[in-house]
Amino acid sequence: MAESVSTLIPAPRPRVLAMKEYHPPLGSRDALRLDFNENTLACSPKVREVLAEISTGSLTRYPERAPIEAIVAAHLDLKPEQVALTNGVDEAIHVLFETFLDASDEVLLPVPTYTMYEIYASVTDAQVVTVQAADDLQFPFERLLAAITERTKVIAIANPNSPSGSVATREQLLELARRAPQAVLLVDEAYFHFCGETLMDLVGAAPNLVVARTFSKAYGLAGLRLGLLAGPADLMRWVRRVLSPYSVNSLALACLPAALEDKDYLNWYVGEVLTARGEFEAALDAAGVRRWPSHTNFVLVEIGARHTEFVRLMRTAGVLTRDRSSDPGCDGCVRITIGTREQMQSAAAALKEALTGIRAGGEVR
Ligand code: PMP
Repeated sequence: MAESVSTLIPAPRPRVLAMKEYHPPLGSRDALRLDFNENTLACSPKVREVLAEISTGSLTRYPERAPIEAIVAAHLDLKPEQVALTNGVDEAIHVLFETFLDASDEVLLPVPTYTMYEIYASVTDAQVVTVQAADDLQFPFERLLAAITERTKVIAIANPNSPSGSVATREQLLELARRAPQAVLLVDEAYFHFCGETLMDLVGAAPNLVVARTFSKAYGLAGLRLGLLAGPADLMRWVRRVLSPYSVNSLALACLPAALEDKDYLNWYVGEVLTARGEFEAALDAAGVRRWPSHTNFVLVEIGARHTEFVRLMRTAGVLTRDRSSDPGCDGCVRITIGTREQMQSAAAALKEALTGIRAGGEVR
């Protein structure tokens, strides 16, 4: 008897057993990082100054988020009770789903989209309902409206979307919010700075709208893990019950005001990326590569059957790109982050070589 007890190990919940494994390819990234849609250069020098001044004594304290939440709320023209800082938008998604999703609920996701929505939804007991975009990968607005049921409890929209780079209009998003008043409409504005479209001004006014933002992209702070959720105080109070009071660490909190204040740096970086995007898109067109219109700091391209080889050739040339071929509706597609003009000139040269390599490769078996 003792023997069988010693071999017995605790089983995870059936939901966890059934989850897909997700291992983002984070290894060996000392190259031009056009694979994770990060800032490809650096954060503001003002943030670096703050980091240099952090004392070891200050690290002995638990982080206090409330004063920084008040600064962020003022920056967004919101009330402090409408804003919660999180350990990246990933934690925001996780906590929002844990707060609102129960066994009889449905989560509505247009696909392809950001992988973590499905992962965090599948940890809950709710059912994931996906709505496939058409071939053009534009926002499947009508299909989403048609998929709303009385069980729809969360609708998660990345706007702009990844990996497609497409956008939903303000009117479309508001119509979704109106047609599903029983559901939280999460509008994930991770790539807001490269696009400029936002619903942040409607936070509080629309009773079921929650907006997420990250500091991982334009601000260049992916390593600090800093994101936020903004929504009506009546919804945010429940989110706060689930959110760890300490999940945003004190280094991230210390850096955040400096990052927000340095608008010149942010504007410079975004401007650089948008110029680089136009030039890189022209290079793609010249090389005859099909691409989807991008409203953000990455572009989805169709490479075709030799997508794996393409990504490998690019890596050999020192440029990391992301194979998205297994995303729904993205067969043969690769996502390329846009960095600075200089970086994208190198990327365009590598791309030309890689295409020559795969086009010379003959028929794919
Ligand atoms: N939302 C979207 C749409 C993303 O693409 C990403 C990151 N790739 C995230 C959220 C995650 O952001 P964070 O680093 O703040 O967790």
